[in-house]
Amino acid sequence: MVVILKNNASEEQINGVISQLEKYGFQVHVSKGVQKTIIGAIGVQPDFDTRKIRILDGVSEVYRVTAPFKLASRDFKEDNTIIKIKDVEIGGNNVAIMAGPCSVESEDQIFRMAEVVAKSGAKILRGGAFKPRSSPYSFQGLGEEGLKYIRKAADHFGLLVVTEVMQISQIDTIYPYTDIFQVGARNMQNFALIKELGNTDKAIMLKRGLAATIEEWLMSAEYILSNGNKDVMLCERGIRTFETYTRNTFDLSAIPVVHKKSHLPVVADPSHATGIRDQVPPMARAAVAAGADALMIEIHDDPANALSDGPQALLPNTYLQLIEELKVIANALGRKIN
Ligand code: PEP
Ligand code: MN
Repeated sequence: MVVILKNNASEEQINGVISQLEKYGFQVHVSKGVQKTIIGAIGVQPDFDTRKIRILDGVSEVYRVTAPFKLASRDFKEDNTIIKIKDVEIGGNNVAIMAGPCSVESEDQIFRMAEVVAKSGAKILRGGAFKPRSSPYSFQGLGEEGLKYIRKAADHFGLLVVTEVMQISQIDTIYPYTDIFQVGARNMQNFALIKELGNTDKAIMLKRGLAATIEEWLMSAEYILSNGNKDVMLCERGIRTFETYTRNTFDLSAIPVVHKKSHLPVVADPSHATGIRDQVPPMARAAVAAGADALMIEIHDDPANALSDGPQALLPNTYLQLIEELKVIANALGRKIN
């Protein structure tokens, strides 16, 4: 931490800041210039609240030098984390595709979608059985019945399952049916839930909150990692901005930023990021070009009658064509799709 004192800070104020820093356990290095005094405070206290220093008399600015997250940081682990689930790797050289409908709507529907996913060469089937909906009057998901259908469809086509968990009480119900627990954007800071998921032995896909900074997102990952579960992937799904022509604003730059700050794999979800069907393929292509380790894409064969997120679902043929385009982009970067 670097503490910059005000130009007119008195000796008494400077000494006051030094003694407070020492009291908090920091090693203090003072550098006195003609005009400014700067204090370097060294000590690994990832959760230190810098406001405690900012409010002291004579202090002008305080800067944190080390990130407040540790286990999630690239400093802690230099090599990329590769999550292995059966024969699928996320975070390695291949870009993993997760695709499927927003919601599991019926056994027949998820089987039809799983067939498309398998045909594309993708290995992971998505579909929500417990749905976080903005309106209490919207379809809330089929619950455990939906989990049975998605597992059955995935097993039939040799796919993995990723499905959303919204609350602690659903963990045990979902556990036998899924390979990856999805934590939705609205639950990124549901600390009770993510702590509990940190105690499980299944991979977690942590979506970025609607208004979460990258640091807050990584801090949530830290909750899971610090509880023992090391298989965490981060999913950029768009953030809330002033823009209204898209459902959310796809923060493409989050992909290289997270890759620099963290060793965890990054998934991109162009479907929720844009919310509009024709904007999904360009952003999917951009995500692969930006280095995403996986993509999550919503598909539906009758989007007009979909029970959730129809307007952002790709029709099967568009999706299959997109995968072919993604292969070309991945290939140019020395990577493979699936
Ligand atoms: C979803 O994946 O269908 C979903 C609800 O995502 P998010 O949490 O990103 O809104
Ligand atoms: Mn959806």
